[in-house]
Amino acid sequence: MFEGRLYIDGAFRESADKEGFEVRNPYTLAVIGEQAAAADQDLADAFDGATRAFDSWKRLTAYERAGYLRKLDQLMKTHERELAEIITLENGKPLGEALGEVRYAASYVTWYAEEGIRVMGEMIPEHLPHLRLKANRVPIGPTGIITPWNFPLAMFVRKMAPALAAGCTVVVKPAKATPLTAVKLFELIHEAGFPKGVCQLITGESKGIGEAMMAHKGIKKVSFTGSTAVGKALLRASGDTLKKLSLELGGHAPFIVFEDADLKKAVLGAVESKFRNCGQVCIATNRVLVQASVYEDFIEILESEVKKLTFGDGLTGVDMGPIINEAGYEKIVSHVEDALAKGARLITGGRGMRSRGEEGGFLFQPTILADVTPEMRITREETFGPVLPVMVFTEEQEAYDLANSTPYGLAAYAYSRDLSRSFRITESLDFGIIGINSGRISAAQAPFGGMKESGFGREGGRYGIEDYLVLKYTAIAID
Ligand code: ADP
Repeated sequence: MFEGRLYIDGAFRESADKEGFEVRNPYTLAVIGEQAAAADQDLADAFDGATRAFDSWKRLTAYERAGYLRKLDQLMKTHERELAEIITLENGKPLGEALGEVRYAASYVTWYAEEGIRVMGEMIPEHLPHLRLKANRVPIGPTGIITPWNFPLAMFVRKMAPALAAGCTVVVKPAKATPLTAVKLFELIHEAGFPKGVCQLITGESKGIGEAMMAHKGIKKVSFTGSTAVGKALLRASGDTLKKLSLELGGHAPFIVFEDADLKKAVLGAVESKFRNCGQVCIATNRVLVQASVYEDFIEILESEVKKLTFGDGLTGVDMGPIINEAGYEKIVSHVEDALAKGARLITGGRGMRSRGEEGGFLFQPTILADVTPEMRITREETFGPVLPVMVFTEEQEAYDLANSTPYGLAAYAYSRDLSRSFRITESLDFGIIGINSGRISAAQAPFGGMKESGFGREGGRYGIEDYLVLKYTAIAID
């Protein structure tokens, strides 16, 4: 049994009113831990502590801050197995994927330990002989971080690393379903010796925490990853204190296969981008659009690859684990039922099942639906599950129109061997992240983020640190 506590002002502690909540393994549904639920007093302490610590953290040199991040990076590497096991236990994803997540998260710490020392300013040519004009970037201030359960570690580390490197202090609020990985990471943060108040961890009831965070005057910036509905609520709430926001929200990624694509590679890319984390990924493929002349060939190869996928307990070497909870499972079932009722062709899968009779977790077969049309809910709503809907198109422009016919604009994929078309793809698709001939697109050094209702702000690379900086301009008159 894990017993997860809050981490405030350099120490772990129970919640002020001793409240907690259960954390379950989504495969067995067994309770694996009890996590502290922050009381109002804890929230005030966390936000106030981060606010107090900001002044001294921002005054350290970037080299000193980088030193702490390097220690954390090293500790994450030393403890990668433990971190991965907790991820699998509370999220359900296969252990191999969980290890990949830990390494991916650490790569952001590595990157920002190096990038923090490259935050530059500049001298601007003066318009009067006695003036000197300087512009430099300074940390925006104490930062709130709210993240979902699908990547229990990477989601918040990807935000925390650039924030800390920039000179911001952070208050991290991971998802209620997966707080234990964050607790383990904070043990490593403690061991790395970060000064008191620089990194705070709060867990508990989301709405109350969100409201307290948005209302606190000391918190100057909030970075959120989660649903578009909650993102919009935070944006509205930010009006009162004018906090700067970064929002990484939902997606509905199209995956276009043109007739000149290498079909086998396209299938492998689609499988990789769809079935990772059981499809519970904001950049997961949501719709495959295949050109008519290769449509049936593509489906045939796809069927043989998807039938190879195994699913079950993430600790046992399977390709896919369970869905996170019943609500997520029911949404998948309803999307499949709706598509079949409206004429979709079931190629493989289609059924959900419990891992241990009625008592077990929520497993769903890897599924392919063909002949999917825009009237079906699955082509508009995020499924967040292992279901791949395949649609047909004829003309190139039709593919772009279909792909763009969503309020979302996070990730898109396309397969083609035509060089000119590859340029038309990036110029035609209204998405922040585009993979051409690749189903794998995210990296610490590259900008990750959306357009339209997928939000704004970027994570990763030299772009990611900008979200935690403000530009300060100084005009100096000299004698
Ligand atoms: P998901 O479906 O990925 O869980 P949510 O937007 O519901 O997406 O949750 C993402 C994160 O936002 C989680 O940490 C969740 O606890 C938190 N959250 C949910 N509702 C609110 C809210 N009203 N205010 C602030 N945070 C919230």
